[in-house]
Amino acid sequence: SNSLLRIEHLTKVYRIGSIIGGTKITAVDDVSFEINGSEIFTLAGESGCGKTTIAKIVLGFEDVTRGEVYYSGKRIDNLKKRSEIFEEIQAVFQNPFTTFNPLRRVESYFYDTLKNFEISKSKEEATAIITEKLKTVGIEFDEFYHKYPSEFSGGQLQRISIAKSLLTNPKLLVADEPVSMVDASLRMSIVNLFKKLEELGISILYITHDLMTAYYLGGRIAIMFRGNIVETGSTERVLSEPKHPYTQLLKESIPQPDPKKKWSTRIKLSDLEEVEYVSTGCKFAGRCPYAMDICRKERPPYFDVNGSKVMCYLYK
Ligand code: SF4
Repeated sequence: SNSLLRIEHLTKVYRIGSIIGGTKITAVDDVSFEINGSEIFTLAGESGCGKTTIAKIVLGFEDVTRGEVYYSGKRIDNLKKRSEIFEEIQAVFQNPFTTFNPLRRVESYFYDTLKNFEISKSKEEATAIITEKLKTVGIEFDEFYHKYPSEFSGGQLQRISIAKSLLTNPKLLVADEPVSMVDASLRMSIVNLFKKLEELGISILYITHDLMTAYYLGGRIAIMFRGNIVETGSTERVLSEPKHPYTQLLKESIPQPDPKKKWSTRIKLSDLEEVEYVSTGCKFAGRCPYAMDICRKERPPYFDVNGSKVMCYLYK
C-alpha cells in the first residue's frame, strides 16, 4: 500500500481501578483508517470518544491492546525504539505554553533540536533553517529571537511550536486540538497554516471536537463515537450531508455562524454518559431515534453511502 499511515483494527482497552471491582474501558474499538501523503485527515468527536488515544498511539505514547499501526508500510506499534521514525512523525499539542519552559528562551529549543538530530553543522546553518521554518509559519526571526514564551500571544506561540515541529522535516503532523487554546479570532489563521503545510507535502492527522475548523480544513474525516468510527468519508460530504444519526446530532449541535460565539459542539459528555453502555449492537442505540431491533443485537458493519462509510443499519 502507498499509504503514509495505516491503522488496522486498532483496539485500546484501559483497566481502571482495583483488580476486584475494577473496570475495563474500551477507548478505541476496532478502528481502521489510512492517511496518504499530503493529506488532511480529521478524527472528530466528543471528549472520551477515543480520538486522543489514537493520537497518542500514533506518537508512540501508548501501547496498543490489539491491532496494528503502519508507517510507510513499516509496522511501528511494536517498535522498541521510536527514534527511527521520530523525525518523520511530529506532534502539535493543544497548549503551546506547556510545550515550552517559561524560564527558557524559545530559540534554545530550536537550536537544541537541530543539534540533537544532527540536522545542522554550524550555528549559522541552524539559524538559516530556523529562519526558513519560522517564515513558513509567518514569524520573522527577529521577532522571535531572545524571547521567553510569555512574550508571545497564544496564537504566535502555537505558530512557533509548529515551526519547531517542522525542524526535522516531518511527513506527518499529529495535531491534537491545536486551536482550542488559541483566541477565536486567530483560529482560522492557524487552520490556514495547516492547509499550507498540506500543500508543502505534509500530511496532518487533525484531532478535534470542533466540526467548524474540520469543515474548513477539508480533506477526509472520521466521526468517532465511543471508540468506533461511525462515519468516514470526504469532510465536505460527511459534514454537509451527515448520514449517521450521531453525526447528524453532532452537526445540529453546532451553533449558527456568529463571530461572537465560540465554535464548539453543545453536546456534553455527561449527556452521553447517562446512556447505558451497550457492548453488543450499536453503541448509539440508546439515544438513536431510528433504533430497530437488530441495532441492539449485532454491531452494524460499514455500509457504503455515496462514497462514505457509515456504521448504521439504516443504510443496509
Ligand atoms: Fe441508530 Fe440503529 Fe443506526 Fe445505530 S445502527 S445509529 S441504533 S439506526
